[in-house]
Amino acid sequence: ADRSPGQPEYLQAVTEVFESLWPFVQANPKYAENALLERIVDPERIVIFRVSWVNDKGEVQVNRGYRIQHSQAIGPYKGGLRFHPSVNLSVLKFLAFEQTFKNALTTLPMGGAKGGSDFDPKHKSDAEVMRFCQAFVTELVRHIGADTDVPAGDIGVGGREVGYMAGMAKKLTNRADCLFTGKGISFGGSLIRPEATGYGTVYFAQEMLQTQGKSMEGMRVSVSGSGNVAQYTVEKAMQFGAKVLTVSDSDGTVYDKDGFTPEKLAQLMEIKNVQYGRCEEYAKKVGAKFLPGVRPWNVPVEVALPGATQNELDGKDAAMLIENGVLCVAEGANMPSTLEAVHLFERSGVLYAPGKATNAGGVAVSGLEMSQNAARLSWTREEVDGRLQQIMHAIHRSCVQYGKRRDGHVSYVNGANIAGFVKVADAMLHQGVI
Ligand code: NDP
Repeated sequence: ADRSPGQPEYLQAVTEVFESLWPFVQANPKYAENALLERIVDPERIVIFRVSWVNDKGEVQVNRGYRIQHSQAIGPYKGGLRFHPSVNLSVLKFLAFEQTFKNALTTLPMGGAKGGSDFDPKHKSDAEVMRFCQAFVTELVRHIGADTDVPAGDIGVGGREVGYMAGMAKKLTNRADCLFTGKGISFGGSLIRPEATGYGTVYFAQEMLQTQGKSMEGMRVSVSGSGNVAQYTVEKAMQFGAKVLTVSDSDGTVYDKDGFTPEKLAQLMEIKNVQYGRCEEYAKKVGAKFLPGVRPWNVPVEVALPGATQNELDGKDAAMLIENGVLCVAEGANMPSTLEAVHLFERSGVLYAPGKATNAGGVAVSGLEMSQNAARLSWTREEVDGRLQQIMHAIHRSCVQYGKRRDGHVSYVNGANIAGFVKVADAMLHQGVI
């Protein structure tokens, strides 16, 4: 805490992981040697830089850019870029820390990183977004590389932004290395990458339900967010026969008592991804209710899939979900549940799994994009989706292996934290004090 003053999100993420690790490290003291725990919480490198760019009115704008290179212990730094006004050092440090354990869980050789800017892409013209991305990458490019650090998208950074950054990076380096993942298909992107985080979250939820002889079929589901992760969560949940009742954005929640259909999802994608519009417009278009300023968690459901942002589900929300009989909570977003909510879910016996396990499908397919680029070939949708399913299955298995309690109950929180930690910690022990 002394080294991270005023960084509440970072301390929250570290506390959650260390609550799981403490009993494990006491039982396995080799992991307390060589200041391993002190080293694993401290990012290897942090870069902070100024981003100056010119808006459509000809005015000079100044934003702050960041890259947190948390750990290279098991492979090149890897993790997304977030463009959102709430971005600061604490938020990105928590994301980079979580990313390190998540990437270890994927079974692929990737270290952990995160970055971004306090730039707000909302209400910016396409030309402004392009100029910002180009200015951002002009500095970032000297810190990344196909075998050093490979960024991707996150909140506010989708295919359009990755395209602008990858294009500028190629011009600056005069090389076609894989410097970004989440690229367009015509210049090295992987099929299924846009779908991967949402699909993976639903594959994981299905695995969790199957441990109790249940499935997504016929379940009522609430999803939060309406961006990349939320959209493909809705799609896969529908394909598995579930009835999806909600999506949301920072203005409020869409409650559709009849549930989503593929046609409604296509309308949401048009409004969000093409027109850069709001959930309220979508609700009007499809005749659903819009609840301004409200989060989706008081809608009674069997499965809740938070897919917006950190700390969007607090203790009160968790208590409401539990009271309404929720069976399974699987996180598409990173750290959407507060510590209090996590404790309530774990104590109540609800099937609850944290984002570092459930949403790892996104970075896993980014890893597969790197492999395809290195081999200079592209796999089919079926090939990538098949590998994604295998990876989600393997992550679920690791969580059960490390998270099973004596009473047979699985703590996915302990499972994910310990399984991810063991891989990174073993790699650090073998590589000496560096
Ligand atoms: P998008 O930018 O595509 O969508 C984000 C969604 O969350 C929007 O609906 C946005 O609403 C909402 N949102 C963002 N910030 C807030 C806030 N402070 N309060 C309320 N709502 C908010 O991002 P993604 O879908 O890519 O990311 C969503 C989550 O999933 C994040 O936690 C991200 O870290 C995580 N994630 C993403 C991965 C990926 O592959 N993209 C991989 C793994 C995790 P609004 O438009 O109003 O801001």
